[in-house]
Amino acid sequence: MLPTSRTVRLSLYILLILAGTALAAGIAMRHAEHQAMEEDADRANQQLALYANSLHSLIDRYRALPAVLALDPQLRSSLSGPISAEQQDLLNRKLEKINGAAKSSTLELLDRTGLAVAASNWRLPSSYVGHNYGFRPYFSQTKTQGTGRFYAVGVTSGIPGYFLSSAVTGDNDEFLGAMVVKLEFPELEHEWSLGSDTLLVSDARGIIFIANQPGWRYRHLQPLNAGDHAEIKATRQYDKQPLTPLDYQSLRRFDENSELARVDGPEGSAQYLWESLPLTAEGWTLHLLRRPQVAFEDSRNAGLAAAGAWLTLVFLVLFLNQRWRLAKMRQRSREELEQLVEERTRDLRTAQDGLVQSAKLAALGQMSAALAHEINQPLTAQRMQLATLRLLLDHGRVDDAYKALKPVDDMLTRMAALTGHLKTFARKSPSGLRERLDLAAVVDQSLQLLDARLRDENVSIVLHLTRPAWVRGDAIRLEQVLINLLRNALDAMQDKPCKRLQIRLEADEQLWLLSVADNGGGIAEEHLANVFDPFFTTKPVGDGLGLGLAVSFAIAHESGGRLSAANQLQGSGAVFTLTLPIDLEAHLSC
Ligand code: ADP
Repeated sequence: MLPTSRTVRLSLYILLILAGTALAAGIAMRHAEHQAMEEDADRANQQLALYANSLHSLIDRYRALPAVLALDPQLRSSLSGPISAEQQDLLNRKLEKINGAAKSSTLELLDRTGLAVAASNWRLPSSYVGHNYGFRPYFSQTKTQGTGRFYAVGVTSGIPGYFLSSAVTGDNDEFLGAMVVKLEFPELEHEWSLGSDTLLVSDARGIIFIANQPGWRYRHLQPLNAGDHAEIKATRQYDKQPLTPLDYQSLRRFDENSELARVDGPEGSAQYLWESLPLTAEGWTLHLLRRPQVAFEDSRNAGLAAAGAWLTLVFLVLFLNQRWRLAKMRQRSREELEQLVEERTRDLRTAQDGLVQSAKLAALGQMSAALAHEINQPLTAQRMQLATLRLLLDHGRVDDAYKALKPVDDMLTRMAALTGHLKTFARKSPSGLRERLDLAAVVDQSLQLLDARLRDENVSIVLHLTRPAWVRGDAIRLEQVLINLLRNALDAMQDKPCKRLQIRLEADEQLWLLSVADNGGGIAEEHLANVFDPFFTTKPVGDGLGLGLAVSFAIAHESGGRLSAANQLQGSGAVFTLTLPIDLEAHLSC
């Protein structure tokens, strides 16, 4: 089976949601990693400051020592002239003693050429005594500036250390030599090596000279040019130590002195958080390298949380979208339904208006026969009356002529009333007209319209009318209802020798009940439910349209009332009841 566009779309949506979930989780995990790393870098930076402090305080402890010793009169006098072996021995022992007390590495006294005339390590094979250190920068610095400092590998001992020196001057401030203290950092390096971090100190050229782990020392962080090499060679700063570059590549920089870097260190290539702290007093830089400790669980939790949040958001959007679509669909179907109902109502109203009109026309047709009969008779009578009148006037019997005018006048009045009714009956009344009217008067009017037939057929009429019976409605239409009921009753009693029509109008709580009962054949049980159906008729073709009751039923409803049919309980014949709400307002005001 070929996949439908719906399945393709659905798969695409699922794919998109999954991709979104993976992306959200990935981003959150990366973010959590970065966050953790930055926090780690922050901590490392604080630790670095502590390490820098310990280095500073170590150096500071010895900074004043050469200056104080340079003031010693014995040292000064021994440098002012050639030195005897005895003097030298005394000096050696003295320096040895002071060195032991100060816990420095070595103390040495250089003469104005840089020759070591006495040293605390005079007993050792690596004794400085007799060696010239004029080439060391600290010596030239001391000669010109009064003090000097220099980190270097000892050319005699091979042990690296920090040389701090102070000028020994004569009475006239002339330069006699230099007092030098050498500091070595094995303890510091050992102390630093207890932690898991790599701690390095580099000089101004970026050459690492202190390291708490083997393999890092004498690596340089920046390329060295020919001038650098020449100078290092001349000062023999790192003496015979080979200098090799340390390859590293910055991966992410947190700030000027903090970054994540891939370092090709002695233990192979690895990522490090690299924190640096410049030690301005010495012109050095302290470095702390730490393996980033990414807590897997933290980043996994962050990923899961982000995926959860993303999915919640997606489902919320889907849910809201679905609700919105449903509401729109409901709204549309409601509108369609409303439109349909409106159209149907309009159609029904038009159809009903048409039915009412055609029923009226049918009634009019039937009535015109009766009307012709009704009018013909008085017309013939009037012609005869007029002839009589002429004769009476010819004979000058004016009084008799006046008397003879009375029946003519009566007949004309009656004919005018009849035609007046017919005129209003045939008009198409606007639906929904609700004027205040007396239902009893409507009964009178209808009986008057059918008067000719009632008299012809010798119908006895029993009237029980409550007057006035105020209702709201259209007089013409209600009259039409009543005429229909009366005509049907007359039709039903056609074959009865004794015809009796009973009309009752009485109040029942909120309603007027108007009933028309006849003593005709009644309505067959099986037809009771259908008599109000349009075009239902039991009359022969040409006689009945089957519209009268259907239209009457509609008119009753339109006026807020009901029309019902039943057979009389006692005796024969049908009874039709029209109920209409009482117009209480009219009754109260009357
Ligand atoms: P039509 O008079 O043209 O037949 P109607 O709608 O007025 O149409 O009446 C429908 C049918 O109801 C009549 O054909 C008749 O069978 C029945 N009917 C109406 N009024 C009476 C009544 N008073 N007695 C018996 N049957 C009646």
